[in-house]
Amino acid sequence: MKVAIIGAGIAGLTSARELTRHGVQVQVFEKSRGVGGRLANKRLEWGNIDMGAQYFTARDERFQKQVDQWREQGIVACWQFNPHSLRSGELTTRPDSTPRFVGTPKMNSLAHALSQNIDIAFQTRIERLERTKDGWSLVAADGHVIQERYDWVVLSLPAEQSKVLLSGTPVECQIPEQTHVPCWALALATLGDVPAEIQGIFGDEVVSWVSRLSSRPQRHFQDKESRQKGLGNYDDLWMLHFSSEWSTAHAKDSAVNITQAGLEWLSAALEKHVEKPLQVVHDFKHYWRYARVKDDKAASSIIADRSSGVGVIGAWSAGGRVEGAYLSALDFVDYFFHEDN
Ligand SMILES: Cc1cc2nc3c(=O)[nH]c(=O)nc-3n(C[C@H](O)[C@H](O)[C@H](O)COP(=O)(O)OP(=O)(O)OC[C@H]3O[C@@H](n4cnc5c(N)ncnc54)[C@H](O)[C@@H]3O)c2cc1C
Repeated sequence: MKVAIIGAGIAGLTSARELTRHGVQVQVFEKSRGVGGRLANKRLEWGNIDMGAQYFTARDERFQKQVDQWREQGIVACWQFNPHSLRSGELTTRPDSTPRFVGTPKMNSLAHALSQNIDIAFQTRIERLERTKDGWSLVAADGHVIQERYDWVVLSLPAEQSKVLLSGTPVECQIPEQTHVPCWALALATLGDVPAEIQGIFGDEVVSWVSRLSSRPQRHFQDKESRQKGLGNYDDLWMLHFSSEWSTAHAKDSAVNITQAGLEWLSAALEKHVEKPLQVVHDFKHYWRYARVKDDKAASSIIADRSSGVGVIGAWSAGGRVEGAYLSALDFVDYFFHEDN
């Protein structure tokens, strides 16, 4: 049995690992150069920055078990802090016992751990799928036809992207439309003294979340070389995630200066907590077109069809978030091995 998995995010890699464990021959195709998908870490001259998910939670027992193992292996750590919230321009905080986890040293350390012994074809964007009499045929974006034929194809992408790839197949109409909302992510390296207890902020209709990246466990931002070049001379590193409404209104080609907007927002939020205004020394931004699910309470589930050998999974099909990505893969593998499903 041969299975092609498209996407090396948490959903794709978890399904690859579970199928491989049971002796199935698996090949993963990933359009980018590395694993992790929306747990992306950007290596810049002045720091390593998690651009996507900033932390994750574990509510389901199956995921908690995996997180416990990762913690034992030193791949995951608990980020303990009381988040602040911005209410009518004021930062407030209250004790919060929600366990929040981060990958160490980077969010995508989880993906690296899952990808051990998995065959992954990087920089291979799959653009077309065709069910032939010998199995699934895959065509890459450069026109290259993958020689191998697969009994199953598993798509672990945002629903919108899976729908395009499966267009014209009977499964297409089962995949929901417009599941995700966009997000501008902005990293700012700043000079200025900010009280240590401000580590994360639930924001407002402009910026929905701020992480003080430099306060998370086991973060190493500046390597020796960049410090020598003077590139690591800053006090803090922040990650701002703009709200979905704001990011929709100021899409990728927007004329708005995202860095300026982010700095003004952060300065206003911290105004009463700093003696001198923050100064930005480096910045980096990224537009996530399919960042998070629109409604994490909306009912969705994985889509799988044994007769044609198709699985459509991903965080969106199990409540969004990192945990959803993991659980969607387990649900698929359960379906795969149980003929009565
Ligand atoms: C800004 C932001 C903030 C977030 N905050 C949180 C948070 O606080 N907590 C939380 O739990 N979750 C958060 N999330 C959501 C979480 O990151 C995702 O739900 C989860 O990582 C999705 O995993 P996945 O495997 O389903 O998909 P992805 O991680 O998107 O993986 C899909 C993979 O498929 C690849 N791919 C796409 N198209 C093709 C193609 N045609 N051919 C080959 N490869 C392809 C992509 O490159 C990618 O690697 C956030 C996400 C973003 C972007």
